[in-house]
Amino acid sequence: MTLEELTSRLETLRVRPLTLEIPFAQAGKHVHFYLVEDSRPALFDTGLHKPDSSRWLEKALRKFGYELADIQRVFLTHGHIDHYGNARVFQNLGAEVYLHPADFNKVLTVEDHQAAVLVDLYAEEFQRHGFPASLVNDLGIVLSGQNEFARPIAPPTPVADGDCFTFDRFTVRTVSVPGHTPGCVAYFLGDSGVAITGDHLLHGISPNPLFELSVTGEKFASLVTYFQSLEKILAEPLELGLPAHGMFVTDAPELVRSLTAFYERRQSKIFRMLTEPVQAFALCQSYYRRLKRFDIFLGFSEMLGNLEMMAARGEISQNLRANRYVYERMVDKPIAFPLAS
Ligand SMILES: [Zn+2]
Repeated sequence: MTLEELTSRLETLRVRPLTLEIPFAQAGKHVHFYLVEDSRPALFDTGLHKPDSSRWLEKALRKFGYELADIQRVFLTHGHIDHYGNARVFQNLGAEVYLHPADFNKVLTVEDHQAAVLVDLYAEEFQRHGFPASLVNDLGIVLSGQNEFARPIAPPTPVADGDCFTFDRFTVRTVSVPGHTPGCVAYFLGDSGVAITGDHLLHGISPNPLFELSVTGEKFASLVTYFQSLEKILAEPLELGLPAHGMFVTDAPELVRSLTAFYERRQSKIFRMLTEPVQAFALCQSYYRRLKRFDIFLGFSEMLGNLEMMAARGEISQNLRANRYVYERMVDKPIAFPLAS
């Protein structure tokens, strides 16, 4: 797709990309979100909250002839701070905010979700994976996802797979794509082949699904689920993915192929390292070496995601022994990746 084709397609749909700088190198230092011009103007995601966010948003929207208060609907792709960070600004001005309920606990005020209960559940689970007690104590920092970059919101309106919303030029269809978070969705704009895909499909950035527990303490198999959602989105009529970071996605099958090849290499390396039964934390330390604080959490989430995928294929097993999870090989050679063909 040429740049002209791309521009004219967005013009026809009245979709206006907005790009805000963010201080996270892992995410490519910027976030895109999208204004859809309509008689009920809408934003898809809202960017990260910063002290001057409202002024920045005001200026960005004015370029297209809108004021902050004109935005009537805010559709969130998922509950990460660089996506919902400014949703409160619009909610306070009367906009309706939509989000998949599986991500509600990320965006609500601490009183509204069960942060205190969760910290204990995470601490217990991390200890079972071999985390040293000193690191478990740092967990509060990791889990308080709400920081200066996001303002908690009042309970949003839930969206579910298949939900449709009427716009002047098309109907928006919600497609649930859990993985990067449990509540990730993509929004398809009518039959245009264009979808706002959030963090589900990104060029050159691994989806890095984070370690997550439900409020009842169940582990979300993030990477396993992510790959199922990749298959799901490939079955959709997707010609142009509008992502939250990096370049637009004009060849989703190719992006999925390279991601699959990347994970296949990573998992065969992990398989080679599993010469004896081992815990995920120890494996993470020898795989990544020298990770610090929050990066340990990222690296560990990534390691566990890979181990869960390998276990789902029957390559390795996860056993709980004396309240410790231990991973070991079940076969002599890695089993072929289902998506690699
Ligand atoms: Zn995200």
